[in-house]
Amino acid sequence: MNAQIGPMKILILGGTAEAAGLARALAGNARVAAITSLAGRTRLPAMVPGEVRVGGFGGPEALADYLREKAIGLVVDATHPFAARISRNAAQACDAAGVPRLLLARPPWTAQAGDNWIPAADTAAAAAMLPGLGDRAFLAIGRQELAAFAGLNDRWFLVRLVEAPQTPPPLADYRLVLGRGPFAVEAEIKLLREHRIDVVVSKNSGGTGAAAKIAAARERALPVVMIERPPAPESETAESAEAALAWIEARLA
Ligand code: NAP
Repeated sequence: MNAQIGPMKILILGGTAEAAGLARALAGNARVAAITSLAGRTRLPAMVPGEVRVGGFGGPEALADYLREKAIGLVVDATHPFAARISRNAAQACDAAGVPRLLLARPPWTAQAGDNWIPAADTAAAAAMLPGLGDRAFLAIGRQELAAFAGLNDRWFLVRLVEAPQTPPPLADYRLVLGRGPFAVEAEIKLLREHRIDVVVSKNSGGTGAAAKIAAARERALPVVMIERPPAPESETAESAEAALAWIEARLA
């Protein structure tokens, strides 16, 4: 670990509600100085207190250099469970720089009575199974994953993104809606009904912000193609910002 003079610098790899929650919880704590790192995918990211840096580091070696140069004392990887590359990079960089790392990952959703989930190993598998399941699919999976559905020219898609994309989705027939969670179940039921959605495609993100569409699908007895999480690096883990705070406190003691 780097020698510390003054507050301990904590790098929060962010882009999630949990990362923002942790930054808020650390704000005003004189013993720490939190730096939240965002990839820069959204033009108007949610506000977080404390220092914020934006953009990729340039790979694991460059991230390790950043940790050394900034004398980062702890890293909390609070990136989205589907952001596999930055988590791998963080594990490699922290090992190289000798910086303790915590993986803050919300637990995945689990199917309840009334759910009709069809597991898919990844987005390509989800796209391959879609023709047997429905004609009008709700895709709330993010902009980057839409390409997997590009070949399905005889389907209709309702695509929800956080903000308008710079290039149109690579789909033949679709309607785009914009929205940032948390979403309400009643509103999600209305959305599914109005667009006559017959199948929902979701990443198993976990958490509360995006869970309403799963509850809405259950309510309307719709199948949900549930894309499973990519593997995460072996890590000390916390499932909430509160648990991450306790991990940090233990290292400040
Ligand atoms: P990714 O595939 O794991 O990462 C791709 C590259 O983006 C990384 O190698 C890194 O570039 C850069 N990067 C990613 N997260 C970063 C961060 N927090 N700070 C600085 N650089 C970062 O990630 P992704 O799936 O594109 O997700 C990008 C961001 O969006 C993540 O921060 C994640 O928390 C958030 N997000 C993702 C999803 C999702 O479904 N994937 C959903 C909601 C939010 P370098 O190699 O150049 O360092």
